[in-house]
Amino acid sequence: MEKSGFTTTLNLSLDPSIPRTSSESQQRRQLARFGKRLYRLGFVPGTAGNLSIRLADGLVLATPTGMSKHQLRSSDMVIVDLDGRRVGGSRNATSEIAMHLAYYRRRPDVQAVVHAHPPVATGFASCGRALEEPLCSEVVMTLGAVPLAPYATTGTDEVAASIESFLDRHDAILLANHGVVTAGDTLEDAFMRMETVEHFAHICLVAHQLGSAKPLSCDRLQQLAEARSRYKKNAVASR
Ligand SMILES: [Zn+2]
Repeated sequence: MEKSGFTTTLNLSLDPSIPRTSSESQQRRQLARFGKRLYRLGFVPGTAGNLSIRLADGLVLATPTGMSKHQLRSSDMVIVDLDGRRVGGSRNATSEIAMHLAYYRRRPDVQAVVHAHPPVATGFASCGRALEEPLCSEVVMTLGAVPLAPYATTGTDEVAASIESFLDRHDAILLANHGVVTAGDTLEDAFMRMETVEHFAHICLVAHQLGSAKPLSCDRLQQLAEARSRYKKNAVASR
């Protein structure tokens, strides 16, 4: 644990792998569980990808660097502040944490962020192609367009800067020549958005292989935009 006045006042546990509250304990288990689900889907081969969740005290609990998401245990998680300083955990934070923190700083509504390399969506990102064509009504309604952020070198400030202009309006972003980042009100939301992005990428690929993709008309899109805003209001009301 780094020494600073900040960490002292937070009174973090002397053993950094022990959760401080029961909700943190649950959140650690959630990160491990959704990490395994991403791994089984083939979205995070090797040590790729990372997941994080906002803690009640405003800090961020994240998966560590250099570990397979298949092998994650609750005690492996790292706690960082919104500037990326490690304030809890014995492992190191991922160098990709900057893109998670960009969402948390900009969007108070975002409670969880998932970053992965799903192969079809990453194929689109590696060809410089966003997933913005309105081919699927349900994707338009639930996710909207998925823009492509310009290439940025992992582990540098470029990463947060590359997605900055998309954060306000998008819960899923393709990262050029890299992968995908998604955000949500819950870790499950962010995870399901990642699944939806990859599913939509498959559909776009097949539609273009067939050669006669028919995007939805402007009128239809307007109707879907209205349905989407109702859907969001209902989702908030049901919480
Ligand atoms: Zn990555």
